[in-house]
Amino acid sequence: MRFLPALAFGTLVLPLAALANDPNSYAQPDQVRVTHLDLNLDIDFPHKQLDGQATLKLDWQNPQAQSLVLDTRDLKIAKVEAVGSDGGTTPLKYALSPRDKELGSKLTIAAPKHPSQVRIVYTTSPGASGLQWLTPAQTADKKAPFMFSQSESIHARSWVPLQDSPAIRFTYDAHVTAPKDIRVVMSAINDAKHPLNGDFTFRQPHPIPSYLLAIGAGDIAVKETGPRSAVYAEPSVVAKAAHEFEDTEKMIATTEQLYGPYRWGRYDILVLPPSFPYGGMENPNMTFATPTVLVGDKSLVSLVAHELAHSWSGNLITAASWRDIWLNEGFTTYVQGRITEAVYGKPLADEEALLSARALQKGIAAMPANAQKLAPDPRGVGADDSLSDVAYDKGSWFLRTLEQRFGRADFDAYLKGYFDHFAFQSITTETMLDYLKPNLIDKYPGKMGWDEVQAWVYGTGIPKDAPLPDSPRFDAIDKERRAFLAGSLAADKLDAKGWSTQEWMYFLDRLPDAPPLAKMQQLDAAWHLTGTPNAEIGMRWYSHAIAAGDKAVWPAAAEHMIRIGRLYLTTPLYKAFAKTPEGLAYAEQVYAKARAGYHPLTQQAVESILAKAKKAK
Ligand SMILES: [Zn+2]
Repeated sequence: MRFLPALAFGTLVLPLAALANDPNSYAQPDQVRVTHLDLNLDIDFPHKQLDGQATLKLDWQNPQAQSLVLDTRDLKIAKVEAVGSDGGTTPLKYALSPRDKELGSKLTIAAPKHPSQVRIVYTTSPGASGLQWLTPAQTADKKAPFMFSQSESIHARSWVPLQDSPAIRFTYDAHVTAPKDIRVVMSAINDAKHPLNGDFTFRQPHPIPSYLLAIGAGDIAVKETGPRSAVYAEPSVVAKAAHEFEDTEKMIATTEQLYGPYRWGRYDILVLPPSFPYGGMENPNMTFATPTVLVGDKSLVSLVAHELAHSWSGNLITAASWRDIWLNEGFTTYVQGRITEAVYGKPLADEEALLSARALQKGIAAMPANAQKLAPDPRGVGADDSLSDVAYDKGSWFLRTLEQRFGRADFDAYLKGYFDHFAFQSITTETMLDYLKPNLIDKYPGKMGWDEVQAWVYGTGIPKDAPLPDSPRFDAIDKERRAFLAGSLAADKLDAKGWSTQEWMYFLDRLPDAPPLAKMQQLDAAWHLTGTPNAEIGMRWYSHAIAAGDKAVWPAAAEHMIRIGRLYLTTPLYKAFAKTPEGLAYAEQVYAKARAGYHPLTQQAVESILAKAKKAK
């Protein structure tokens, strides 16, 4: 039993053995734990592979342990050896199990003598799930190839053999060679003035979980945005990105004021090509970000607030398994809102909270019961699937509820203490609850019952009295939308001239799922939404227009889908097209053109949507 005992008996720290069986990893941390990684990599662009040597420092836990078990996926293992204290090596026997579709291949290394270090020499596969390789033609500047990693959730194992579980933390040193003129960056301190001589070294002195291991390489320029922050991007993108992210230092200072010091040193941002499958990835010291937030007016920089917030919730305190991921994402979405409020004002923070809450209210009922829970039963839930709206939006809603009940001053003090107490540890939901009870719930009696806490964490749906922020601007938009749909307000009479990105998102989000075609045509004629450079607006506009049967938008929708590989902005269009046979055929044509530019994760997601639609036919 892994989850409930700690809760029932109020143990403060979960015993190591209880963390031993992360269902998404083969690692056996009750036998042996990796404490440090020395990584040697050569980036081979022509073959789309990394040639690697991973030397793992080991802390043996069980005197009877016979082997070191690691996670791998599609790695070609050349040899495995024990490394002595004098640097001498002895070959070790190993076995690589057949590939499991979800978990990859278990690597069992016979090591009854408990060496203090083990080295694995290996090569990655060109189709590694955690890497994307782009040809020069697939980049913005078309001059050099580009490669980047995305390790969360369980994809680090596709480029480094290790114990790929967020319960296990290690420090790392890396030495990376690459072609000349290529800049390499990692989730460690990066030197903006490093010569582009093809030889890079990195050090991450803080213990991190494997999903925060990250690398990027390409024709990358740097522009400072503050005393401890810079933007890294392709040369043609870097100035625009530095302008969009110019408030980064203000955000860091704000978060420090709220929750204590930023403990990582520098905070840099790498802007990736548009094929990056996520909005952002909180790799320590170097957030990886989508270029789709570069819209010129800073309206989407809450993405930076989110990734920065992870420097406290997620990177400093880490969910011990994927089932607990709301500890990363719910807390971070809450902190993101607080940063946005402090830097850009309460109306914007409230609008963003409402957008996510309304979307969750609309979507949650259709989810399987287990998926509606913040802390679900992990059986049968894939690691990537656990990163759902529930973790982010229900999680942050729970924290906003706590803030409302206990008052901002006391809740802020509580949260600051929480970040301090568990700094650089991986914890479960139950460990968090064990800390919450004496330090907040019982400390201020009469504000919130323990049964209410349990309903938020283990219950389905959203508790009925969950508080929503007020937004007079959104209320006005609700009114306009209703009048427009009822026919009492013409499209060109909508008061939309000054609408922000979030206000357009809200207007479009709450249109009927399949709106009347004539209404969509009127809207487009008045506001020229087709062809918008703002992908948040585009994703919402095209999905509704496609559902309305507006074939005039198809070519522009296709252009959006080919240009952008970010899952959240692209998959809704595939889903919208897949609802009719003609749309499905069109989506298949679009995918044939887009596929080569997509990340393996995006390819997998789109192929699953298309396959499901075909089966339903
Ligand atoms: Zn996040």
